[in-house]
Amino acid sequence: MAFDINMIKKVYAQVAERVDAAREVTGKPLTLAEKILYSHLWDGKAKSAFTRGKDYVDFAPDRIACQDATAQMALLQFMQAGKKKVAVPTTVHCDHLIQAKVGATVDLQTALNNSNEVFNFLESVSNKYGIGFWKPGAGIIHQVVLENYAFPGGMMIGTDSHTVNAGGLGMVAIGVGGADAVDVMAGMAWELKFPKLIGVRLTGKLSGWTAPKDVILKVAEILTVKGGTGAIVEYFGPGATAMSCTGKGTICNMGAEIGATTSTFGYDESMERYLRATDRADVADAANEVKEYLTADPEVYANPEQYFDQVIDINLSELGPLLNGPFTPDLSTEVGSAMTEKATANDWPLKVEWGLIGSCTNSSYEDLSRASSIAQQALDKGLKTKAEFGINPGSEQVRFTAERDGILDVFEKLDAKIFTNACGPCIGQWGRYEDPKNAPKNSIVHSFNRNFAKRADGNPNTHAFVASPELTAAIAIAGRLDFNPLTDKLINENGEEVMLDEPTGWELPPKGFEVEENGYLEPVADGSGVEVVVDPNSERLELLTPFEPIGDDVKGAKLLIKAFGKCTTDHISMAGPWLRYRGHLDNISNNCLIGAVNAYNKKTNFVKNQLTGEYDGVPTVQRAYKAAGVPTIVVGDHNYGEGSSREHAAMEPRHLGVVAVIVKSFARIHETNLKKQGMLGLTFVNESDYDKIQEDDTINFLDLDAFAPGKTLNLEFVHSDGSKDVIEVNHTYNDSQIEWFKEGSALNLIKKQNA
Ligand code: SF4
Repeated sequence: MAFDINMIKKVYAQVAERVDAAREVTGKPLTLAEKILYSHLWDGKAKSAFTRGKDYVDFAPDRIACQDATAQMALLQFMQAGKKKVAVPTTVHCDHLIQAKVGATVDLQTALNNSNEVFNFLESVSNKYGIGFWKPGAGIIHQVVLENYAFPGGMMIGTDSHTVNAGGLGMVAIGVGGADAVDVMAGMAWELKFPKLIGVRLTGKLSGWTAPKDVILKVAEILTVKGGTGAIVEYFGPGATAMSCTGKGTICNMGAEIGATTSTFGYDESMERYLRATDRADVADAANEVKEYLTADPEVYANPEQYFDQVIDINLSELGPLLNGPFTPDLSTEVGSAMTEKATANDWPLKVEWGLIGSCTNSSYEDLSRASSIAQQALDKGLKTKAEFGINPGSEQVRFTAERDGILDVFEKLDAKIFTNACGPCIGQWGRYEDPKNAPKNSIVHSFNRNFAKRADGNPNTHAFVASPELTAAIAIAGRLDFNPLTDKLINENGEEVMLDEPTGWELPPKGFEVEENGYLEPVADGSGVEVVVDPNSERLELLTPFEPIGDDVKGAKLLIKAFGKCTTDHISMAGPWLRYRGHLDNISNNCLIGAVNAYNKKTNFVKNQLTGEYDGVPTVQRAYKAAGVPTIVVGDHNYGEGSSREHAAMEPRHLGVVAVIVKSFARIHETNLKKQGMLGLTFVNESDYDKIQEDDTINFLDLDAFAPGKTLNLEFVHSDGSKDVIEVNHTYNDSQIEWFKEGSALNLIKKQNA
């Protein structure tokens, strides 16, 4: 079953009543984002209005999507919940663990050889618990979601930050951590701070070399990488409706690059065309019946300044092609002489070595067809491409159709490498260099979303610039960063001057989409007999053991580390090479807090083992405490645990025996993750008490047996000279979160309730 039409009809059956109720409680016309949010409240119809940017609200998403890197721990946790099936439709997509090096066939086989145990695990868990499984090579999660599952007015969450791509089909789609996805899979609500709303009014019309990608590159320039934080960006206006559905997807996709919670567009004819072209006429028919609820109320777009927190205007007729980068996606430069100046001033290499087209951002049929129209001109006009080409189609359906229609052939005639339908170079899975750290300075252009140092090829000296697929193709052919296809001539093999004409392409394949084997595996109806196999000797996967409750009598605890300054989830659980162990809690725990700075010596991964008096790495010392049965605490500064929502940052200390994290303040998601794992996340009543804590302290919890909502706790810190400080700490646990603590974790409680 590619999608669940009954689920969609159920959402549409209640949308009118719920939106009407929301209009009544807010007393005003509603934006599209508000309609979707208010029609997905966990408690049903709205009873009161929520304050944007302030109120935390429980939602009931319609769908979940997980990619292979994040799905491992999410599914390992879900297996702990004791459920027979996931509570909402869920899919798993194998796209991140496939390297791009030689070409699709060889690279896919290499990935299967290297990561088969992970793929097999994900496939068997999916089969057992009713989760749709997209095999390696089936496509990139967000393109596959857009083609198969996204629907106007829906709400989905996904364990990947570019889940937001589905806004191109009128959804509120949000990237979350694995722990949030597990809650929803297990039938619980999903909590989100009610977002602020940014409106982007698009007037005029895209034409010539300007593409949807340039819209979001412009928005990134205006808002910067932080400007969308905590907000949903809603696009509207004649420029929006004139744009293709996949073009809208590109714009929403890169909303992640401005920090936005998500982005979305109102339902329109481009979405209807896309739904029908992707074999979902029934969804289009159902959407047409409630279409006034799938876009904002007319008063909102007529007078947006009154209803959005911020409004941005972009006239598409005045927008030109942009090149954003290097090293940040919000640094915009117009093509041509402006780039010559900037590149020269900043010593960016003007010679371009690669042009990469693909990623979830720009790998649709339209993207490939427009880029191939430029590639075809190189062939027709006798131009030899100066840079190499790499192509990652977004899905097998796109690849198969593009191959049928001769699009891939055009690129192949230019010696392009057609990589697997997967993330590949977009996530550093690019076998470009044997030794990337010592690779030379160079420039590349790609149609992806992120261009941080080392992101594509691991080489810190690669200057990556983000552009539309058609501009990427033109720049790859010219081999120069400052090539302006609107004005510049190129010399062909006969020594003649030629110019590239404007790109052309098809919004949708004229002969329709086609695919022989889309790579989808439907789970069996009854998965109870499916066995999930994990090799006990595996270094990448490990079944989880339920955490034991910490109990209410913690005495004689030691200080593992007092973290100094910033301590993000990257400091607590580093990424990079550790990604390999995301499905193996014990192995990945060897990175626990290795990036945190020890307040006593200002060094990382160098803390005192109070049992021996020796200094060693944090995981080694903590394992020694665990072996000796000694509980520990971690102390931190402000905004502890900011960064990603990765649950490993809470699971690792919990697994290794840390009982409490006491800080000046928490990043909220990390605090919640600690609660879910059955740990204590506490904050100093007096921030200055942070300074009283000494390296050799022994800690006794004085009143944990009276743990209750709204009641502070007291901890006795016994210093090495025998003196004592009693420190009062706050917490934000409510009754059910205290139950999580008492049961050892939220999942333990769910399992108990199921039983
Ligand atoms: Fe993430 Fe890139 Fe894959 Fe998209 S293509 S899901 S941005 S790694």
